Amino acid sequence: MSRLLIVGPQGSGKGTQGAVIADEYGVPVVSTGDIFRENIKNDTELGQKVKSITAAGDLVPDELTGEIVRDRLREDDAADGFLLDGYPRNTTQVGHLDEFLSERGEQLDAVILLDVPREESLKRLTLRAEQEGRDDDTEDVIANRLDIYESETAPIIDVYERRGIVDRIDGVGSLDEITERIRTALAARGIVRPAS
Ligand code: AMP
Repeated sequence: MSRLLIVGPQGSGKGTQGAVIADEYGVPVVSTGDIFRENIKNDTELGQKVKSITAAGDLVPDELTGEIVRDRLREDDAADGFLLDGYPRNTTQVGHLDEFLSERGEQLDAVILLDVPREESLKRLTLRAEQEGRDDDTEDVIANRLDIYESETAPIIDVYERRGIVDRIDGVGSLDEITERIRTALAARGIVRPAS
């Protein structure tokens, strides 16, 4: 059973690594960013509500985001494990997630922190902006998102560090090297890939 969270600044490669790890460990990725983008693309009610917020790189209100995550985690495929990507993103959301998990007698098993210097994140985000054309990948919005990461999201690491569940992974290197670092860290916690 693996209940994992992957955290890192935008451009740290957490989306890519999260998908690889979730696939290997047989758990679904629960990415709030992906859920919001999907809803914006399909022009749903939720999409309309969050469109301008995400375009500015600001955070969607905690209550709304929490509700979406809880609904997703209640689905059958997340019963035995999941990999959260992009949630929680501030200490209020940590509290909401704790409450939800403890009601179910569950807790996070590991927090994978992808460590990437701000300069490197900026470089990767600028490249992604050129390649994918995401509307929240413009220079001003990127800077705003990195500022919010540093002021709001970085403090959640301290909370989880006090619980002894953070694995700090050097996020600079090849995709395979970084995946291997994550596997090694998880194995040290007794979290291993299911036999295929
Ligand atoms: P991401 O792909 O994780 O960078 O998320 C894209 C955007 O979705 C963010 O810049 C926020 O506007 C919004 N978002 C994603 N996750 C959250 C969250 N946990 N709380 C609030 N807003 C979020």
